Amino acid sequence: MNCTKCKSDKPPEAFAKNRTMRRGYSYWCKACMKLCLAEYHRKHGYPAQQKYGRRNPEKIKAMNVAWNAANKERRAATIQAWGRSAAGRAKVVRRRAIKARAIPQWADSKKILDVYKARIAAQELFGVMVHVDHAVPLQSDFVCGLHCEDNLVLLPAIDNLVKSNTIWPDMWEAA
Ligand SMILES: [Zn+2]
Repeated sequence: MNCTKCKSDKPPEAFAKNRTMRRGYSYWCKACMKLCLAEYHRKHGYPAQQKYGRRNPEKIKAMNVAWNAANKERRAATIQAWGRSAAGRAKVVRRRAIKARAIPQWADSKKILDVYKARIAAQELFGVMVHVDHAVPLQSDFVCGLHCEDNLVLLPAIDNLVKSNTIWPDMWEAA
């Protein structure tokens, strides 16, 4: 089978199957495709960008925070639209039920309220969205945190969304 790129004859296994082509295989062999893709990435730098992101998560996070601050309305509109969707509403209901179950009897509702007040203050001070988050998540495969004053922390919103419920402070000490 002939490759129209490198003009060499190769067995069919050397070509990617492609039903949109008349012969059922790509006209370029896999080796040529690979070279072409590498060249494309070299020119456009896409994998380099990804590598950079993996090496510099803090910088990417800072960029996201800056972007969100500069595009507040756009971001708010997206979040609002999600909140109105069926999936968004269902999640709010679920969260409320989980939180209600996680409030211990000794929780100090006034102190909890203070944390939420501090959140508003922090938002105004830093100009970014701040979430009240649970240091130990209410829901994870390993532990169940409580909705009480000692387990509440303030986080820039972007961190809260990035963080998944699989880690908590001193998790390695507890293990
Ligand atoms: Zn070729």
